[in-house]
Amino acid sequence: MPTTRDDRTARVTRAVPYEAFLRPLYRAIDEFRHYPGKHDQKTHGIWAKALPDYSPTKQQPAAQATTEQDTTTPPTGSSCLAPKDWHSDGSPAARRVEGLRGLARQADALKADADAALAAWHASQQACLKADLAGDLPALDAAIAVEGRQRALAEQAHTAYRDFQAQAPAKAASILRVPEDRRGEFLATSVHTTGKRLYQTAPKHITDGNAFLSMVIDYEHLGIDRQTMPVVYHSASKTLRAYFNPDTGSIHLANPTVEKASTYIHEAGHLIGHLNPDVLGLSIAWRNARAGDEAPRSLNTITKSSRYRANEVGVADDFRQGHEYTGKVYVSSSGRREYATEVLATGLEGLYTDPVAFAVGDPGHAQYILSVIQGGGE
Ligand SMILES: [Zn+2]
Repeated sequence: MPTTRDDRTARVTRAVPYEAFLRPLYRAIDEFRHYPGKHDQKTHGIWAKALPDYSPTKQQPAAQATTEQDTTTPPTGSSCLAPKDWHSDGSPAARRVEGLRGLARQADALKADADAALAAWHASQQACLKADLAGDLPALDAAIAVEGRQRALAEQAHTAYRDFQAQAPAKAASILRVPEDRRGEFLATSVHTTGKRLYQTAPKHITDGNAFLSMVIDYEHLGIDRQTMPVVYHSASKTLRAYFNPDTGSIHLANPTVEKASTYIHEAGHLIGHLNPDVLGLSIAWRNARAGDEAPRSLNTITKSSRYRANEVGVADDFRQGHEYTGKVYVSSSGRREYATEVLATGLEGLYTDPVAFAVGDPGHAQYILSVIQGGGE
């Protein structure tokens, strides 16, 4: 045996190449693999960093509803297109959707770079193993040097991707935020089902929801009061399915210990359709334009589940998987009039939960929502 092995190669012997040298490296690769993907953002995650930027102006006197409502034009153009056919029509709402989709493209490119660097690092380790098994010490030295460089490159690419992911929520928020002077204020109160006020201050899912709605809604364009104060009832039940009551204009949520901001925001979407019936009409027209001549079917059939009541029907269109509820069709007990839609409710919810995934998965729906709450989609 040669006696010229230096300390570094001495620990790499034929007897234990995997145990002593390669296994720790493979473990390092495994740890690398678990960088967060763009869809790993849990509900609230994407806004966790963005929301503190919002500072509501307290104690602003409530203004009267504006007399001008510019949301009555039926939605036309690319916002009615199916996801696969969507293209920007250059409108402000479409440009915001493009901005969100651009974030997804950048994230995908950085992830591809990180994956490629990881694969190159892995290959460099295989070269180490090969040289070691061959007993070719000069080749092993060279392979170890290459492995070190590949590892550094993989770390660099991984860091770039992770940094981008960390900044994405703030970037998405800056795309969606309306200028300060055009923001309204959502200030929901929180009341127990018995009518007894449960909280001195609203629970977090309400304050988060209020902050989000205040940040993304141009109250003047939407044609609602500058200050909107939804009444929210929390049930004692932890399994209550949240709903909006159009007779009382109130939002009903489950027990506050289990309720989520996304649910409150969804119900606020129904409230907005209630406050501005033009929006309700627009949303029905938009859904009908998307669905074409598709006849409503059972939501359970569409979703291949049993989570809906037998009388709940809707159109499947090509709404996102997991978001088929957008196509729900409401018919009053007399069977004549549509009195509600899920278009704005699921849209606001999607915009809050993961605006980038929403813009990628159904850009036309995202564009429609932004045109309604911020303008520029007509
Ligand atoms: Zn709903």
